[in-house]
Parts: sequence; C-alpha cells; structure tokens
Amino acid sequence: MSNIPFIDLQAQQKRIRPQLDRAIQKVLNHGHYIMGPEVGELEKELSSFCGANHVITCANGTDALSLALMVYEIGPGDAVFVPSFTFAATAEVVCLRGATPVFVDVDKNTYNMDDQSLLRGLEVAKSKNLRPAGVIAVDLFGQPADYDRINAIASEHDLWVIDDAAQSFGATYKGRKVGTLADITTTSFFPAKPLGCYGDGGAIFTKDENIAHKLRSLRVHGQGEDKYDNVRIGTNSRLDTIQAAILLEKLKIFPSEIEARQRLANHYHEQLKGKVKTPILLEGCTSTWAQYTVQCSDGSSREAMRQSWEKQGIPTVVYYAKPLHQQKAYQDYPRSGDLCISGALSSTVLSLPMHGYASVSLHEVFSF
Ligand SMILES: *Cc1c(COP(=O)(O)O)cnc(C)c1O
Repeated sequence: MSNIPFIDLQAQQKRIRPQLDRAIQKVLNHGHYIMGPEVGELEKELSSFCGANHVITCANGTDALSLALMVYEIGPGDAVFVPSFTFAATAEVVCLRGATPVFVDVDKNTYNMDDQSLLRGLEVAKSKNLRPAGVIAVDLFGQPADYDRINAIASEHDLWVIDDAAQSFGATYKGRKVGTLADITTTSFFPAKPLGCYGDGGAIFTKDENIAHKLRSLRVHGQGEDKYDNVRIGTNSRLDTIQAAILLEKLKIFPSEIEARQRLANHYHEQLKGKVKTPILLEGCTSTWAQYTVQCSDGSSREAMRQSWEKQGIPTVVYYAKPLHQQKAYQDYPRSGDLCISGALSSTVLSLPMHGYASVSLHEVFSF
C-alpha cells in the first residue's frame, strides 16, 4: 500500500513503449536531431488538437513565456500583471526582460487570477509610474483562468494577454480549447505536466501570423532569410527532434489520459466532499487536473490530513507553500493589495496523486 506514486510515468511508458522505441529509432536513423521532420509534424498535430492557427515549439515552458515577452518587446518601466499563487517561472521571465511584475491575487475557489485584484493592480502600477503592458494569466492546476473577464479588462486597458498554460494544455473554457483563449498561449512539456516528454520541452500557440513569424525567428537567434541572416535579437530555444518524436506518440493517447484523470478527480470528489474543500470548476470548463488540490480549514488540519494519508501510503505535495510575493526574490515588487487569498491558500492547500494510471489500491484507499 505504501508505493502509490504521486504521478506514474512508468505505467504510461509501459503502455506505449514499442511505439516510443520505434519513434526514437526513426530519429536515430535519419539523424536530424535539431529541427528534424518530427518537430514540424508535432506542431501540426498540436495545432489540430487545440485549434490554434500557429504552433511554435521551443526548449521549455519558461522559454515559451520569455519568447512571448520578447515578441511584445517589454522592458524597463513596463508592468506585467501576474498572479502571486503560481510557479516562479511566470514572474521570473518578466524580471529577466527588465520589466516589473505586479502581483495580483487569485480567486479562492478556482486558484486563478482574480479580475477585481487585476483592476486594483492597474491602479497600483500607474501610481508607481509604470506603464501597464500586459497580463500573464496562469491556468493553475489545469483549469483555465476566467478569460472572458481577463480579456475584457485587457482590451479596455490596451493590454496583451498571455495564457501560461503549462499546467492546462488539453483543458477547455466554455467550449473553447486552451491554446485559443489569449493572444499568446504557452505550455510546458516537462515530464510531470499533463502532456510531458522525456526531457525539457515547450510550445507557443497563437492565431496571429505576425506573432508566429517573429516567434519562429526568435527561437533561432532572430534568424531572417537564412541561418546567417539576423534581423532581431533572439535566442536558442528549439525543441529536440527526439522529444518531438516522443510527444507525437504521447499526444495520441493524451485524450484517453485526460478522461482517466477526470475519472480519478470524480472519484476523489465523491469520497472527499464534505470532509475537505474539493476543487471547483467554472461553469462550462474542464481541467486537465495537473493537480487535484483540496483545501483544509487551516494549517493544522492540513498537517493532520497529510499525516493520515501518508500512513495509508498516499503521498501528498503542497503547491505552493509560499506565494511569490512572499518569496525573498520577489518580495520587493509591487502588488495589488495584501493578496490575502494567495497567502491563506499556501497554508491550507494539499495536492493528491494524479495521473491517468491510478491503481485499484488508490481507489480503495479513498473509499472510506
Ligand atoms: C512548469 C511551469 C512553468 C515552466 O515550465 P518549464 O518547462 O519547467 O520551464 C511555467 N509556468 C507554470 C505555471 C508551470 O507550472
């Protein structure tokens, strides 16, 4: 009972091992390790999967965000609004471009950016003589943020919107797929994400042809007409051909894995409702359940819960133990008020094992 994995990448690999071996073998045979044919094929498949007109793969999810910010040419004096309750990469990329992240609070039910806090953040930025440039909304734990509201605020205030979909690729928002909900969507293929490869990987989605064109140039050193023509400052951020080949195989079984994750989420909900606060999805939205995250009433009941599950062999993780605005690296950046939801969530949330290959024993433990 004590060997239930928090995520089970092994079971997935077993399911498609022959296909993976063949796919990797094919790359070894043709030898185009960089920008080989599988990269373009994957971009095409990802595009038909989510409906984004243009897909540009890159080296990882952090680079995907960085490249998107390079398109918008932000720099010193620009404010970019980011949630505080997220993984550090979301804010880090803003600082690396020399711009200023302004931390915004999240909604206590969805864990995603709160639109009222975003509006307050705009005022904070202006009061500090920063120019509001854009928003990076995060689809935390696999559920899309409330893009109808965020996009409405953005268009009113002339901001671009980036969807950090590192955790949510494969989810839907009111019938629309992640990849089409913002001006630019970025994702990560880090192994533990819902769609992961066997190393680092990422992708960027947009419907704007000019943006796509710039991104294709930026990921190869700002390339112009040919390899040794440089028309802008870019970087090296390509997806390896072998990772693309692996992702092509994984993408085929991704829909069935999303369904299996949903079944486990349903099971958790049935067993845990009334005992802890179970996740809440917006009307008409689906999640890829990057995490199944419950809320306990306070820090000590979370610790009791954690210990009791641990005794039953169920591993848990706290995402995130500290919101970004309380981290040493980020505490001096502006914020939209006291961000009390982000602060409170850090001491009450607990994430349960989640993947598409849950064993019978996991289901049994949760049949109290
Ligand atoms: C994982 C993650 C990233 C970064 O992705 P990498 O591929 O690890 O660089 C960015 N944002 C969020 C919300 C993430 O969960």
